[in-house]
Formats: sequence, structure tokens, C-alpha cells
Amino acid sequence: MAAPAPGELTFAAPRGAKKPPRHLADLTPEERRGAVEELGEKPFRARQLSRHYFARLAHDPAEWTDIPAAARERLAEELLPGLMSTVRQVSCDDEQTRKTLWRLRDGTLVESVLMRYPGRVTMCVSSQAGCGMNCPFCATGQAGLDRNLSTAEIVHQIVEGMRSLRDGEVPGGPARLSNIVFMGMGEPLANYRRVVGAIRRLTDPEPDGLGLSQRGITVSTVGLVPAMLRFADEGFACRLAVSLHAPDDELRDTLVPVNTRWKVREVLDAAWEYAAASGRRVSIEYALIRDINDQPFRADLLGRLLRGKRAHVNLIPLNPTPGSKWTASRPEDEAEFVRVLESHGVPVTVRDTRGQEIDGACGQLAGAER
Ligand code: SAH
Repeated sequence: MAAPAPGELTFAAPRGAKKPPRHLADLTPEERRGAVEELGEKPFRARQLSRHYFARLAHDPAEWTDIPAAARERLAEELLPGLMSTVRQVSCDDEQTRKTLWRLRDGTLVESVLMRYPGRVTMCVSSQAGCGMNCPFCATGQAGLDRNLSTAEIVHQIVEGMRSLRDGEVPGGPARLSNIVFMGMGEPLANYRRVVGAIRRLTDPEPDGLGLSQRGITVSTVGLVPAMLRFADEGFACRLAVSLHAPDDELRDTLVPVNTRWKVREVLDAAWEYAAASGRRVSIEYALIRDINDQPFRADLLGRLLRGKRAHVNLIPLNPTPGSKWTASRPEDEAEFVRVLESHGVPVTVRDTRGQEIDGACGQLAGAER
């Protein structure tokens, strides 16, 4: 077994958390052959099953006509157990944004969001049920960590999204998924091994995996430095997003509590290591919170930290969580923040705020259900 990531050592799942069942998507192609053989089937059935699951998105054993009917049920039960069911689906933005609340087998709730834009479709997925990072402005952070998701539980959110896109269930006609962001519930780098496994399943060519592009995947982190450095060594061309939210340790210690462990400078140094290894610009996420982190002096400080680096700033108007004392910045403060960053030559965009009407902010839907 691979050594646990540094992040996992520090932020282990709560004791007694139930294990999700083993699923084809948890396994490497080699492991799938072994698992099929253990069930008394020929190893080549593994590739057939993989083709049904990853390439054809065909979950109904009745469709697996290349596998003898007698073997289908058993293979399905043992290697493609049901992982999640839909609790609720809500849409907005002319049904171009759709959020799904899933219930896992042990009752745990997780969310994913599909966002359709002209020419691309992005899916936002969860990597953990809940989150242990405790950021005070984030709905998921308030509820704490339930447990890590398995690789298959991460992959299956995407498989379901791809299937409903293919089948035309999202208005606008059938479409293909182009982008995946690990910006749903959880801290992906605190569930390191399973997230890396999921990225392999997503990007391995069919039929071993879904054949998606690594360049279309973004992993967002609070800044778990040892895990960021390990991620840089994986050789992925994925994008890394760093949830910075403050350029100074004093404020960041309160907005992103893990900053008390890894400081702004260490986090950014690790980000530049990742940028060098991946050849991709790092996305610096910055939720603009009125009168908290949106002052021109903080924009200036951020600009100084980022100028000349392989970075792009993504400003996110705060989506206030229920009962929060904080709200989004005034438009004039946001505009000034952008101007100051640009004066340092730092590329910056303001994220569109899709999904606000459907509690689109991280963790809000699951929070409402609880
Ligand atoms: N744990 C990871 C990924 C999940 S959150 C991380 O923190 O990066 C994805 C992004 O949404 C993060 O940048 C997070 O800080 C931001 N976010 C969470 N709650 C928000 C809110 N209420 N308004 C705006 N952005 C929020």
C-alpha cells in the first residue's frame, strides 16, 4: 500500500466511519483483472466491465450483452454496487446550472454541481463528505468532516453527470463534459490518495477510464503544503487552485485556519513549485468579503506577492452562508481591487456567481437538508 499523504496523516477521517463498498472505479486496470478472477471469471471480463462503465456509461447489467447473463448479476453486485442515490436536484440560470444532492450508502450527504456554458460544461465535485478545514465563511466548513469519499464515490458523481448530459437531461441538447473542478465539499488534498486515484480514472483513456483531459481538471486546496508538493510530483497537467483569501498571515489565520500551520509564503512557494512542474498557471482564489479582505492595501499586498509569477487571480464575490455576518464586497471596492491587481500586471477575473438561488455555495444544500 502507498504511504499516506502528509495531509492524510494530519487530517485522518473520524474513527468508526463506515467504509463504502468496493467498486470497479476504485481499482486500477490490473486490480480489476485480479478482482474478476477472484470471482471465478476470465480476466478479460474486467475490460468488458470497464468498457460498460467508463466508455458506454451503461450501468444496467441487461445491456452487457457481451457477458453471459448468468455472470452479469454477480459481477454487478461485486464490482458495480450502487454507490449513491439522488436526494434532490435543483436548477437555476435557465436550468443551465443543476445541483444534485446525493445520499451515499451509509446515509452521508454530498453535493455536485453541473454548469453549462456556451461551448463547455463544468462539473464541480465533492472529495469528502463535509470538511475538516473549518473556514468560517464556508457552509461545509461549519459542519465538520464526516468522512473521506472513496475514489469510486468521487468518480461516480462525474459518471452520473456525463450520463445525464449525454442523455439530454440538461436543457440545450446532448453535450460532453469538458471541465471538472474539485470545488465541491471537502479538501481534496486531505483525501490525497483517493483524489489522485479519481484523477487517474477520469483521465485514463477509454476503456480503462473516462478519457477526459487532465488540462480540464482543477484541484482546489486551502494550502496543505506537503500534499501540494507531493501533487507536483505526480506529473499531472491539472490546474491547481489555491484558496488564498488574504495576502497577510494575520487575516488568513482567521479566514483559512490551516494557515496557522502553513503560512502564506510557504503556500505560495508550493504553488510555484506546482506551476513549474505542471506548466500551468496556478489559480489564486480570493472570496471578496465586504470590509474584511477587500481593502486596496490588501490588493496591493497581493499584487506584490503575485507579480511576475505563474498566477491568475479568481475573485469570488462571497456567497453568504445562512446566518453569516459577512457579505460580498461593494461593486466599487471590487472594481478597485481588480484595478490594483492589474496595476501589478496580475491577470484577474471575477467569477460569475452561478447558482446563488440554489444555495450554490459550497455545502449549502447538504446543510439545508441536515
Ligand atoms: N477545500 C477546497 C475546495 C472546496 S471550496 C478549497 O478550499 O479550496 C472551493 C472554493 O469555494 C474555495 O476557494 C472556497 O474558499 C470557496 N468558498 C467556500 N465558501 C464560499 C462562499 N460562501 N462564498 C464564496 N466562496 C466560497
